[in-house]
Amino acid sequence: MTIKIMDTYVRVTDFLDYLFCPRKIYLKRVLDLEEERGEKALFGTLVHSVFDRLNEVEESIVYEIDDEYSFDYILKIYEITANKIISDVLNNYSKEIDKFSLSKEYLFIELKKHIYDDVYERAKNVYNTMKTYQEYGIFLWDKLEPKIKSELELLSDTLKIVGRVDRIEFYRDYIIPVEIKSGNYSNSHIFQLHAYALLLKHNFPRYIIDRGIIYYTKSRKRKEVRLNYRCFKRVLTMRDRILSIIENEQDPGMNKNLNKCVKCTFYEICKKLKL
Ligand code: SF4
Repeated sequence: MTIKIMDTYVRVTDFLDYLFCPRKIYLKRVLDLEEERGEKALFGTLVHSVFDRLNEVEESIVYEIDDEYSFDYILKIYEITANKIISDVLNNYSKEIDKFSLSKEYLFIELKKHIYDDVYERAKNVYNTMKTYQEYGIFLWDKLEPKIKSELELLSDTLKIVGRVDRIEFYRDYIIPVEIKSGNYSNSHIFQLHAYALLLKHNFPRYIIDRGIIYYTKSRKRKEVRLNYRCFKRVLTMRDRILSIIENEQDPGMNKNLNKCVKCTFYEICKKLKL
């Protein structure tokens, strides 16, 4: 058996799969089977892409701001930029959108609903920072907190974990990892957040990382989570179980909860596999 480098690492998304059903790890990481992306997953990808692009262009938006700008004007700039980004993202995903016969007009409106609060908060933060420090353009950007980075790929050789964090908010002395979810609350999101926090602690040791946020775009709620030792420990225990499935090519067998199976994209494949 040849072990590829990445086979000795656990991806943070593996934790979600394992929590749903350990056999998913075997199917995806050992048999290399791919999960078909459904409509919900596609929408989640669109939301992430819009946020990602917004983070990329935010610095250039702030550079343009000068002292005559009102809050409404700043908000307008953000809204126009966000609308343009949504259109671009929808065009980039045209093929997949057509596959589900979804209307781009409908998706445009839905995406706007999911990102609007974030756009508003960004504009408010920029305006308040401008008023507090009386700084504009590049100097305003320097003062702005938090600085947001998105889709940052992190790896830790010590932890044997790799993952891409949705969003990281950098403050002067501390970091807040943010998980963006277009669906509803699940316990596994808290677990995922702890896994990212562990990665961040190993990659940015000088910062305090003691809480994270799960941002539910549908309900527009930011759920703050205090990170705790017990959950970090559970992450590491689960990492070992996942690695054991991968390294030993061990099939954990069919899930006992058939309700999960009927909702699972691997259902047909699993039925054919011997236990
Ligand atoms: S179909 Fe059932 S056993 Fe197979 S991966 Fe899905 S949940 Fe697990």
